[in-house]
Amino acid sequence: MAAQLGSVWLQELTWEDVAAYLEDSDIIICPVGSTEEHGPAGPLGLDCLIAIALAEDVARATGTLCTPPLWFGDSPHHLGFPGTISLRTETLMAVIQDMSRSLRKHGFRKILIINGHKGANLPGLLAATKNLREYEMPEVFFAVIDPVKIAKKIANEIKEAKEHHSGELEISECWYKYPHLVKQEKLTTSQVDFDENFSPWSHGDLFSAPHEVIDIPWTSTEQRRIVPTGSFSPSIKASPEKGKAYHDYMVDQIVRFIGWLRDYDGPVAQV
Ligand SMILES: [Zn+2]
Repeated sequence: MAAQLGSVWLQELTWEDVAAYLEDSDIIICPVGSTEEHGPAGPLGLDCLIAIALAEDVARATGTLCTPPLWFGDSPHHLGFPGTISLRTETLMAVIQDMSRSLRKHGFRKILIINGHKGANLPGLLAATKNLREYEMPEVFFAVIDPVKIAKKIANEIKEAKEHHSGELEISECWYKYPHLVKQEKLTTSQVDFDENFSPWSHGDLFSAPHEVIDIPWTSTEQRRIVPTGSFSPSIKASPEKGKAYHDYMVDQIVRFIGWLRDYDGPVAQV
């Protein structure tokens, strides 16, 4: 297990270490994030930093190995802000698929992607893994793990504002894990009016939708105009305590999932 190897990070081990790990486990965690603006208070690497923190805490608790993080994601809508570096959706898919081909060749059969970039990476990650399984490697189990899907309960208990890009919860989690990277004097107070900008069928909270939703993509030029600070929802109520509650809840969910997965021998794995 990774604990005996001295690191949970593949890039810090030797090939012999990885061979030893594979004698005991075929599970690996892949943290995926983005490099994109996170308002005036959050660092550009926030999504990847969060994915790294989740992956590392889960890996330590379960003795699982992690791949190096993918620092870039599907972020074209943030390109109006300096520093954002985006992959096209098809590039993200190609990277995930090539990484999976390598991992499979070595004997990994359960690949867990922890996505820190939430909804914007999900279409590419799900399409990449679905197509790999169907057409190329049905014997490999994939899971795509995302805060907007595994933290709804805790999110709605602790947040005091609607949560969207660069909002209270993700700034809190970053503050908890990387306090030196949050500019506390630049926490934000404004909330983007989604109804006005994106129709009454849009919603401004990633963790709860009070009504039916129709998705409307927007461009980086529109985003810069609509959200001049880059922060879609207020982060002023962020705190490291909220960040810890949010983070620990997700770690617990993923640790329990891996506990279940270790013994999983269901129809998916038997193909
Ligand atoms: Zn983010």
